[in-house]
Amino acid sequence: MNGLILTLNAGSSSLKFALYEPGNPPLQLAEGQVENLGGEARLTVKPDGGQKHSTQISANTHAAALEAILTPQTGFLPAGTAIAGVGHRIVHGGADFAEPRVLDAATINVLEQLSPLAPLHQPHNLAAVAAAQRVFPNAVQIGCFDTAFHRGHSFEEETFALPRRYFDAGVRRYGFHGLSYDFIAAELARTAPEIAKGKVIIAHLGNGASMCALKEGKSVASTMGLSALDGLAMGTRSGQIDPGVLLYMLQHEGLDAGQLSYLLYKESGLLGLSGLSHDMRTLEASDTLESRQAISYFIHRIRRETGALAAVLGGLDALVFTGGIGENSRLVRAGVCEGMGWLGIACSPDRNQANTKDIGTGAVRIMVIATDEESVIAKAVSKVLG
Ligand code: ADP
Repeated sequence: MNGLILTLNAGSSSLKFALYEPGNPPLQLAEGQVENLGGEARLTVKPDGGQKHSTQISANTHAAALEAILTPQTGFLPAGTAIAGVGHRIVHGGADFAEPRVLDAATINVLEQLSPLAPLHQPHNLAAVAAAQRVFPNAVQIGCFDTAFHRGHSFEEETFALPRRYFDAGVRRYGFHGLSYDFIAAELARTAPEIAKGKVIIAHLGNGASMCALKEGKSVASTMGLSALDGLAMGTRSGQIDPGVLLYMLQHEGLDAGQLSYLLYKESGLLGLSGLSHDMRTLEASDTLESRQAISYFIHRIRRETGALAAVLGGLDALVFTGGIGENSRLVRAGVCEGMGWLGIACSPDRNQANTKDIGTGAVRIMVIATDEESVIAKAVSKVLG
């Protein structure tokens, strides 16, 4: 089929998009994002062969954002360009979707049923699917799931120690950030095949943050669970928490489910601890005690999980840093590696500072690899288009 590939990655208040020419690998032509949807929305586009530019737009919904992206003035989609396939990042694919899927009515119905498991992400992902179906009725729509890469985990990794009926009803540890882990696993297979065959921990550290243990390129454990709240502390999410704390908030503070959800997803993590910002760059530039403690807690949890995941793997050959913080924060990477010589983890201050790809000096290879979730989506669509 002739035509290009559009990828869409819809967050609660954002829409990232990119345009690709099909192929193996697909070739990125243009990209951009809409931020602050529902507020003072801003559209940034880097058109094919053109300069990046940014404008304020009026858009409250993902449908309005898509319309704004496609207006001729943005230069994103030149007049007369056909879209053959649209690839969507979908946070939850449930227990069964281990591969990308064509988003027909039956599949969308299954994904809608999963919304209660990812209430802050799934409805936005599906809103973008509906918008793209209206604008490109003849294009094939493909869903790529953040949970898919983690399917095949052991029972012990997947379950909670709750009555069995919960597991049977889908209350399980699913794991997320799968598109990013998929990309890194493929990069390792391409550039460091001997490492890709071994025991690897990937730390995806962005506003959302999680870690994944890989054995022979397959995910065997993740720090995220039923929801994208578990595991590491994040920009505004708490990460792992004693369930007794939640009972305390419900029983003694009288919070309702909505208030509890807001507290855990939006007011906690780096923002909650620092009282200043969810953004690592801002915290690194701040000299308050609270900012330093927020960073130090963030690092502490990564170190704990590194030990735990190495135990699941039975050893460690490589640790990979990715995501906005993993790719850029010298401070966080140095903090994670400090005093970890017992596990073979040690990093070169100079190479860490220079942000080179290989920063390790111990037995464990330590790598910094930029992730590219959009390319994983484009590849999946390209495969379907043949
Ligand atoms: P998202 O999960 O929204 O995709 P990103 O992967 O873009 O997030 O990561 C955003 C985080 O990366 C922010 O906390 C930001 O401050 C941090 N970050 C980006 N660049 C740097 C840098 N040079 N130094 C430290 N942190 C950085």
